[in-house]
Amino acid sequence: MSDPFVHTSSAAAPSVLALDVGGTKLAAGVVRADGTVQSFRTIETAVHEGPDAAVSRLLDLGEKAMAEAGHPEVVAVGIGCGGPLDPATGVILGPPGLPGWDEVPLGRLVTERLGLPAYVENDASAAALAEHRWGGWGVRSLVYLTVSTGFGGGVVINGELFQGAAGQGGELGHVVVDWQGRPCGCGAQGCAEAYVSGTSIARRAQEALGQRTSSLTSVTELTARDVAEHARAGDELAVAVWDETTAMLGRMVAVIINVCEPDLVVLGGGVTRAGDQLLVPVREAALRQAMPPAAKACDVVLSRHGDRSGVLGAAAIAFHRISTDNTQEGDA
Ligand SMILES: [Zn+2]
Repeated sequence: MSDPFVHTSSAAAPSVLALDVGGTKLAAGVVRADGTVQSFRTIETAVHEGPDAAVSRLLDLGEKAMAEAGHPEVVAVGIGCGGPLDPATGVILGPPGLPGWDEVPLGRLVTERLGLPAYVENDASAAALAEHRWGGWGVRSLVYLTVSTGFGGGVVINGELFQGAAGQGGELGHVVVDWQGRPCGCGAQGCAEAYVSGTSIARRAQEALGQRTSSLTSVTELTARDVAEHARAGDELAVAVWDETTAMLGRMVAVIINVCEPDLVVLGGGVTRAGDQLLVPVREAALRQAMPPAAKACDVVLSRHGDRSGVLGAAAIAFHRISTDNTQEGDA
C-alpha cells in the first residue's frame, strides 16, 4: 500500500535532512520547505549499544533517506534530541532517556560525515515549531506537549520558539504537579513526567497490580497502550491509572494556559494514539481549571503529525536556523 504522507516528487526546491533521536527509535527523513515529507525511515535506537553505534546508524539512516528521496538538493541537517543539550554548539548533555550520551558533539559529527551545516534542538521544542509552521492551525502562539516514552514540551510565542537564557526554556516535563509526589528521573519530586509519561503509566499500573485483581495481570511487559486498552474495556485498575493520568495532564495544561495564554495546546507523542480517550478528559479538565479569560482564548487538540512529528520538528529547526543565520549575516 502506498504511504499517503510520503511524496517523491523531484521538484527543485531545496530540502533538509531531518534526524530524530529518541530513546526508543531513530528516525530520518527528507523534508521540503512546505513540510512535504519526501522520505521517512525509522530503526531501533538500541541505547544499550552506546552513542557511537547509535550515531553511526543514525547517519546511515540519513543517507538512505536521502537516496530514497532521489538525492534532492539538501541544504542542511536538522536534529531533534531529548534534552538537556546545547542548541548553540550542538552538544548532547546526558539526557535521562539516552544513558551514556554525555557531551556527545552530535552537530559536529553529522557535519563531518555529511558535509552539511547541522542544527540541534530539543525534540519537543522542535516539534512545537513544526506544529506552528506546518500543523495547519493558523495560530500565533501554541504549546506542544509530547506524551511518549518521556514527557516534554515546547513553547512558540508570536511565531518565535521560546528557548530561554540557557537554551533549555520550555522544559515542561518537569513542572511540579504534586510537590510531595512521586520521584522523577530528574531528581525532583512530583514532576508531570513522573505521572504522564508512557513509562510512568505502565509503572504505576504495575505497582497497583500487587494489591488488586485486574485483567492486566495476564499481560507481560505492560505498556501504556495496554493500560489504555484495558481501561477502555472497563478494567477498574486500568481505569484508575488512566483517570489519574488524564487528571494530572489536565491540571498541567491548565497551568500552562495560565502562564503562556497560548491560542492552542497541541498534544502529540505515542500515548496520544489513544485519541479521544486521552483528549476529551484532558481538554475538559484543562479548560475548567484554567483562568476563564485564558481558557476562553485557548483550545486543546491532538497533533495531526503522527509518527512524523519528530522528523518534521527537526526539519522545522533546520529551515528556521538557515533563515536566521542568513538574516544575521545580512545584518553584520
Ligand atoms: Zn522531573
